[in-house]
Amino acid sequence: MKFMAGRNGTDQLCRFLSFASLFFLLLATFAASSPFGASALVLAAACLFYCWFRALSKNTYRRSQENAAYLRLQNRVLGRFRGFFGRMKQRKDYRFYRCPSCKARLRVPKGKGKVSVTCRGCGAKFIKKS
Ligand SMILES: [Zn+2]
Repeated sequence: MKFMAGRNGTDQLCRFLSFASLFFLLLATFAASSPFGASALVLAAACLFYCWFRALSKNTYRRSQENAAYLRLQNRVLGRFRGFFGRMKQRKDYRFYRCPSCKARLRVPKGKGKVSVTCRGCGAKFIKKS
């Protein structure tokens, strides 16, 4: 307890780093005979050491900034995946287009023949087959 007082401890980035190091360790085991195995081992060790360094660090301000940056990145990546899987679920009933002028994603019901699509964001109109 006393040892960990004032130190950063484990946070989300730490958890991710431990998972990453475990992943690289597994990779190193499976690819042990190839030169790739050695680099995976180095990466595993690097992730683990960085995780420990962060957990034991007393510069909690800097560490929490790193964690926040990691969470922002994670949110962006997960958001992209969520959007992708959401579209995969709806692909039977809808087609997805990007607005040619503002690049917003637009959803059009499928099987309506040629439709004129009006972008909700910028009002641009274009013809698409649905
Ligand atoms: Zn638009």
